[in-house]
Amino acid sequence: MSMQVFNLVLFVIEAVIYFAIMAGFLHFRRQLGLGVFLAALGVMHFMETYLAAVFYVELPFGLVSPGSSVFFTGKLMMILLLYLKEDAATVRQPIYGLFLGNLLTVVIAQILQAHPVVTLPGGRPADMGFLNEMGWLMVWGTAILYVDAIAIILLYERLGRILRGHVVWRFCLSGLIMMTFDQAAFFSVLHILFNAPLAVFFGGWYAKLLAVLLYSALFGIYMKIEQIPRLSRSRREISDIFHDLTFRERYHALLATSGVDGLTGAFDRNRLEADAPGLLRNSLSVRDAVSLIIIDADHFKQVNDLFGHLKGDDVLRGLAANLKVSARPGDRLFRFGGEEFVMILPVTDHDGALALSERLRLASHGVLRPDGEGMTVSIGVATAPDDGTSLETLLSAADTRLYQAKKDGRDNVHGRHGRLGGAAVAAS
Ligand code: GH3
Ligand code: MG
Ligand code: MG
Repeated sequence: MSMQVFNLVLFVIEAVIYFAIMAGFLHFRRQLGLGVFLAALGVMHFMETYLAAVFYVELPFGLVSPGSSVFFTGKLMMILLLYLKEDAATVRQPIYGLFLGNLLTVVIAQILQAHPVVTLPGGRPADMGFLNEMGWLMVWGTAILYVDAIAIILLYERLGRILRGHVVWRFCLSGLIMMTFDQAAFFSVLHILFNAPLAVFFGGWYAKLLAVLLYSALFGIYMKIEQIPRLSRSRREISDIFHDLTFRERYHALLATSGVDGLTGAFDRNRLEADAPGLLRNSLSVRDAVSLIIIDADHFKQVNDLFGHLKGDDVLRGLAANLKVSARPGDRLFRFGGEEFVMILPVTDHDGALALSERLRLASHGVLRPDGEGMTVSIGVATAPDDGTSLETLLSAADTRLYQAKKDGRDNVHGRHGRLGGAAVAAS
């Protein structure tokens, strides 16, 4: 047997062992825990990169590093397999972990190089230059892997629109495309850092394609043995999967739900406390005025008593929606308590706030109770800096005025000068 063929046989053996062990870890993840698979994936990464930098063998079609062909390709296929068995939210963990872990390696390599080192008698001096280069190579490798991993999953899903049930073909085709991209990207840096000759590009490319074919065949066998239930096409939109992979869905969910009151969709009280200082400060720096109003539904208890709590909820929802559309775009509505709302009116002076409050009060009449009666609200108005510049002082001033509005027969607005008269509205 020629040396090249012998190398090829070893190459295949390596791929089979890698696939069998890794797919085994993945398959038994319920018993072993997914951490076993993920840690193995991470450990292999260092060796792959090391081998890709220094270890080359001759195959019938060129110079090849088993590190980047068998093992790097293997890792990407394992990431795709993990996606098939779990979901995008799980698969992003190793994608991010590998990338961040390598960044950490580079940072640590920088610090290590500052050590004055002792060479042990008979020992070899540490090759810090190499460690350094390796670190950057690994960062580059995982940066590409990051793109590879996300792209291969999206590609696999995209191919699902054409090749529906042909899971192995999709696995194979997405692998071939991504490894071609990967080789081009990885080789360019290998060339710059290690002056790798062009033969390495083609050798490596063929080897990666061969590895994809091998893994696809092994995947096909695995599929035959173990029917994976959720393997056909994900019913989710590709953009959804992308958002999952890139953590964007978390961010959107956070924006959409945190700080928002579930019933009315207004911001909640936590959010008021979190956002008010910034809102007040900004307004006061732009123009020396910002107002805060408290809006309380009149006789709301009656609505509940007469029509039940659920109808009461509907009325509250309607009231919040009504307040929102009647306010201006920059005004911020918070649900302060049961049937009480706070609105912050940026860069709005007292007269302006009174005028807007009057508009809100009149608009609330359009919110109907189940018996067709219009709702009414009472509103207390406070304005910084005259009534204070903190959330607490403004709330307290507005609350006092709200109390006066209630005492004054409800369905009215109270400000600094008592009940709103025609003059205040006319003045603004
Ligand atoms: P006032 O005009 O003095 O404000 O009278 P009121 O009945 O509106 O005031 P009170 O504070 O006595 O009652 C508020 C009621 O709002 C009592 C409570 O059951 C009801 N409430 C608070 N939160 C909710 C809610 O989420 N849904 C419903 N349906 N009712 C709520
Ligand atoms: Mg009330
Ligand atoms: Mg109340």
